[in-house]
Amino acid sequence: MPAQRNITVIGGGVTGLATAYALLRDGHAVTLLERNGDVGEEASFANGGQLSYRYVHPLADAGVPRETLSWLLQAGSPISLRLRADPHQWRWMLAFLRACNSTTNARNSKVLLSLALRSQDELGRWRTEGLKDFLWRQPGKLVVYRNAAKFRKAAASVSNPELEQVLSPSDCARVEPAFAALAPKLAGGIFSPADEVADCHRFCLSLRDAMTAMPSFTLLRGQASLGAGANGRCDVMVDGRAHDTDLVVLAAGVGSRQLARPLGFDLPLYGLKGYSLTANSPAGTMPDVSVTDYDNRVVYARLGDALRIAAMVDIGARDASINPHRIARLRALASETLPQAGPYDTARPWAGLRPATPSGVPIIARTRYPNLLLNVGQGALGFTLSAGSALRVRDLIRGTATPSLTDAA
Ligand SMILES: Cc1cc2nc3c(=O)[nH]c(=O)nc-3n(C[C@H](O)[C@H](O)[C@H](O)COP(=O)(O)OP(=O)(O)OC[C@H]3O[C@@H](n4cnc5c(N)ncnc54)[C@H](O)[C@@H]3O)c2cc1C
Repeated sequence: MPAQRNITVIGGGVTGLATAYALLRDGHAVTLLERNGDVGEEASFANGGQLSYRYVHPLADAGVPRETLSWLLQAGSPISLRLRADPHQWRWMLAFLRACNSTTNARNSKVLLSLALRSQDELGRWRTEGLKDFLWRQPGKLVVYRNAAKFRKAAASVSNPELEQVLSPSDCARVEPAFAALAPKLAGGIFSPADEVADCHRFCLSLRDAMTAMPSFTLLRGQASLGAGANGRCDVMVDGRAHDTDLVVLAAGVGSRQLARPLGFDLPLYGLKGYSLTANSPAGTMPDVSVTDYDNRVVYARLGDALRIAAMVDIGARDASINPHRIARLRALASETLPQAGPYDTARPWAGLRPATPSGVPIIARTRYPNLLLNVGQGALGFTLSAGSALRVRDLIRGTATPSLTDAA
């Protein structure tokens, strides 16, 4: 057991909460600092609910720039781009373009896969030891492809057929009968039987409740800020007042970039806006396995007795406000694809900002400030990677972490 430290984790989203939990379990005293009235109210609130441990390919890949350009010309496409006179947006997009090649994608997919599998193991441990009430299930995940070339490319990248099964359209319908009507339009699918689903917001609340019952945990509500202090250390302020701590872990989602600026860091984080609907669909109409409709980039997951449908990447959004056109498009896509689980006009809309790095690989690293660590940039996989990212922070503090691509800022 390492020497106990007083550690402050900034950010009460799924990344910060999982980090705080892993550090408490490692014997530290932890203060979790959150500016909102409660935890899990920003990007972690109503995401797709997929614990997608095997399908972790970053968005940046060969062919994506051309595909994105064709999408931008279509109304209601999965990706929308609003160019701004913002150097950060341009730098982020240029770095994203540089990562759009198959070598970088393969390397980054490998890093993400190992982080994701570690995450699955650790979440399993947390569940076995009593973390509960977040609608966890292990129904497997089916990615369905309408486009034959994309299906062939995905099928060719499957390396372990036990973990990822390549399916024909009729097999897709057998694995998930709720999508049977779609089978004639499909080229095929990839099924990962060990993948899981859960409600991310409830997971945040379960972590909060589990930690609140531990004596060495404090949940502190307030606005954090950071500054360069004496002896090369990072100072933490809460609502403008000095906050005493041995170590600080920055895990504030898309807000981390602004927090780190006074320290001289320009973190390559950008908020990619996405949307979800939560429908109280009639019993028996919802898919049991979680499904990704790859060509429309829409994910479907049954969470308890509700259906979560999530999609879209808006580049250039300033905040997480709901664009009614995008939500109308999502309702229309769900109605076309899974009509029996509708109607979707009463489904609850939500939007959030994925804290994304250009490469899709998070930054989990020590910094030149000896008392500051980063755990940011989990992008579209923050729920999936939360427990594994938390373990990496724990290992960095223990001094046992092996060098990794996640060290790159
Ligand atoms: C539409 C959509 C669907 C998604 N689907 C999935 C999915 O199916 N599976 C998956 O794994 N991931 C999914 N994601 C991604 C996932 O939701 C995010 O990666 C994850 O929630 C990010 O968590 P976070 O804790 O880093 O950030 P957040 O949840 O945004 O948490 C950051 C916290 O920091 C706090 N904060 C910020 N600044 C300060 C400050 N100065 N002081 C104090 N507190 C501060 C904020 O209030 C916030 O609570 C999806 C995202 C979206 C938008």
